[in-house]
Amino acid sequence: MTGDDTIVAISTAAGTAARAIVRLSGPEAIPCAQAVFTSPHGPLGRVGPFRTADGVAAVRSAGIEVPCRAYLFRAPRSYTRQDVVELHVPGSAAVATALADTLVDCGARPAEPGEFTARAFFSGRLDLSAAEAVADVINADDDAQLRSAMAALGGRVHRLCASAAEELADVLAGTEASIDLAEEHLAFDSPGDLASRLGRVRDELGTTARRAGDMPETAERPTAVIAGRPNVGKSSLLNALTGTDRAIVSATAGTTRDVLSASMTAPGGQVVRVQDAAGFAAVDDALGSAADNAARRAVARADAVLFVVDAAGAGDLAEDLALLADVLRSNPRAPWVLVANKIDVADASADAVLADLVRGVSAQAAAPPRAVATSCTSGQGLDDLAGVLAECLDLSADRTARAMGLHDRQKRCLASAAAAAGRAAELMGEAAEVSDAAELVAVEIRSALADLGQISGQIVTEDILGRIFARFCVGK
Ligand code: GDP
Repeated sequence: MTGDDTIVAISTAAGTAARAIVRLSGPEAIPCAQAVFTSPHGPLGRVGPFRTADGVAAVRSAGIEVPCRAYLFRAPRSYTRQDVVELHVPGSAAVATALADTLVDCGARPAEPGEFTARAFFSGRLDLSAAEAVADVINADDDAQLRSAMAALGGRVHRLCASAAEELADVLAGTEASIDLAEEHLAFDSPGDLASRLGRVRDELGTTARRAGDMPETAERPTAVIAGRPNVGKSSLLNALTGTDRAIVSATAGTTRDVLSASMTAPGGQVVRVQDAAGFAAVDDALGSAADNAARRAVARADAVLFVVDAAGAGDLAEDLALLADVLRSNPRAPWVLVANKIDVADASADAVLADLVRGVSAQAAAPPRAVATSCTSGQGLDDLAGVLAECLDLSADRTARAMGLHDRQKRCLASAAAAAGRAAELMGEAAEVSDAAELVAVEIRSALADLGQISGQIVTEDILGRIFARFCVGK
């Protein structure tokens, strides 16, 4: 990721649009682009900074030329601080892919997810909190997340850490001076003054860590998983809730074996990923057990479970209950909803069916489950289910309205820095002279500075960087 080779990727979203952008960054970006680009205005290398050139790009694998506008950003005045060329072509996925392939043939390397932003980080163009915010802006699902991510991108997290770090460094200097210059009889800040400065840093960092909202750790959104015996209507429910035809709906039991997922917008506007854990029901062949594992992982990680049974009474309730017990064992933490599907073909009323099922299921669960009767055919109950799901996921407006969204990692670093500043404040507060506590206080302050350095990226391990940039899509 830190390399100085030349990378290429399509940096527009998949699908058709007015234009697609293929982006190159690295020392060979201009010669590489030049190898495919022809313009009546002359070679690309002669185009001035921040200028564009119109011409054609040769897409060799397809044997065609397409209209192309090239944008040049010369090092160091570019996003990555390397030479960057963007080739804007008609927005066909096939053209963009073939053009990127052609550029790989010309010597560029396909970029990893987030690699352009990683280069911006390693070149010092962005601090880590801003680099993380780039992914958050891209992945934002609602206005609150977008505002928070934009604030982080604009340096809000950076400013908070920088001002705390400056104050800590200042106190550290005062503390160390008391040791180094002990013989000089200079006037130092009193232990009480230094302790209260450290206390203020502790309070500010601690309050921010506590009050911060959650930023999704990946492109990940809250996830609801749909589980239940084969043929109860899980795929149909996935389609009905998300308004897609992702899942293959079939009257043959056991058709859906992958963990299919699609997004729905819950009441309140949050986007929820809904997954069909069809394979959770044990199937006895190799493909079945592979899906079983994926489905099991999906259930274990889910934030909420929709457990579907057949309201029309097809199949054995004992089998439903055995599967439910298994699901709840796999994920005892997530709230779950009992979904009585196919209510349109049930003999009894929705209330009667639900009352019966809840009685049957109550033996499995500590508390009576939330239960909703639905029909994927008529749409009955689907809005109710979306509402109950939103409650389960605690998607209250309150949660999204919180001011500064931080990732768990950032919150842990802030909390840890606050704790270290607190210990330093305490030690200093108890000392008669600054020099009495100086050595121990310095250790704590350095530890707080190291925590803050992990947020800005001054001190950060390769593993953490890998995880952060893996949250990006290719091309960003
Ligand atoms: P899965 O195996 O649990 O994913 O079940 P599917 O979604 O594939 O559905 C199995 C069958 O039940 C299909 O023929 C669906 O059309 C049908 N089905 C699903 N939901 C309903 C419903 O609410 N009412 C009725 N009448 N049929 C349904």
